[in-house]
Amino acid sequence: YQSQPVAGRHFLQIPGPTNVPDRVLRAMDNPTMDHRGPDFGKLGKSLLEKVRQVFRTEGPVVIYPASGTGAWEAALVNTLSPGDAVLMCETGWFATLWREMAERLGLAPEFIHTDWRRGADVPAIEARLREDRNHAIKAVCVVHNETSTGCTSRIDEVRRAIDAAGHPALLLVDTISSLGSIDYRHDEWGVDVTVAGSQKGLMLPPGLSFNAVSEKARKAAETARLPRSFFDWKAMLAANETGYFPYTPATNLLYGLDAAVDMLLAEGLDNVFARHDRFAEATRRAVRAWGLEIQCAEPRHYSSALTAVRLPEGHSADALRAAILERFNMSLGNGLGPLKDRVFRIGHLGDLGPLQLMGTLSGVEMGLRVAGVPHRPGGAQAAMDYLAGNS
Ligand code: PLP
Repeated sequence: YQSQPVAGRHFLQIPGPTNVPDRVLRAMDNPTMDHRGPDFGKLGKSLLEKVRQVFRTEGPVVIYPASGTGAWEAALVNTLSPGDAVLMCETGWFATLWREMAERLGLAPEFIHTDWRRGADVPAIEARLREDRNHAIKAVCVVHNETSTGCTSRIDEVRRAIDAAGHPALLLVDTISSLGSIDYRHDEWGVDVTVAGSQKGLMLPPGLSFNAVSEKARKAAETARLPRSFFDWKAMLAANETGYFPYTPATNLLYGLDAAVDMLLAEGLDNVFARHDRFAEATRRAVRAWGLEIQCAEPRHYSSALTAVRLPEGHSADALRAAILERFNMSLGNGLGPLKDRVFRIGHLGDLGPLQLMGTLSGVEMGLRVAGVPHRPGGAQAAMDYLAGNS
């Protein structure tokens, strides 16, 4: 599946899937076990307990053998009924896809628009909820880290806005590209359903998706009427008691998850977040030194998981990415939707050290030169100056 033999390691610097650490690869490289046998029950129970720490919740987490999109669907179908109004925030491409899913499921999503250069508009959420006096809106849906733009929404502020409006809507949050990379607190921020995936901050291959579920969300599930079967929480929540899943779990991915969660907890979540904050700052310093523009225009919403970089008018981000792949064996994220060919995205989430980041930024700087994109040299140097002073 590799188009040509290339010496050295491929740099996978898309904003997920991310690099899978050797320890996680080794953990998965074990015989698949009987998922109804005694050993699996022990693994399942301890893992479902342990993984809660990553979400910063004391409540249950359910794990599906699915990509993140499955966890989006699970969050909606377990809590809502046909025709329910949901308030969604157009932070970018992934928020748009989630809204389209809500429409297809028979919900009535309302979109609060942004220019794709900042996080969710919290005052607009509050104003809309205050207007909704008879509480027709049943859920507020926010993508925590919008992977298409590199903008991170302030979930703590969204929570305060919902409370300030005195509104009972559920809060559903997509943390697919933030969990395990950017500070996130399911319980403290009063989130009702947190949606996550395995292939980004959790440092695993794609294939697992997660819902962390609040008490209020579990109550809502008792009366929610959207049809659901595979994604029904009921049997999945029972796994939190028994350790056994209602259908065949992705056994070897769970071995990997066990190792990945151990790695995150051993480093300490706050240290993990600080590492990503530092790498993101180094990346932004490089981008500014090149004289290029960061897609996120609101510094309070800068993402610590990825940086989307705008190309000067008349230059192709896809041509730049193709040149970097061909010459330097590195994959960078493409522009999505209206940002196609306009931006490229540097992933700095997941398992990443300072020298990997410097390799990445050096590859981008060389690529800018190869592709003839106007820029000033010195971005990698600016990042090194910062990292050397701040590691
Ligand atoms: N939400 C966000 C923020 C994402 O970044 C992605 C994928 O990149 C998704 C949802 C969709 O997840 P998946 O592709 O795993 O189904």
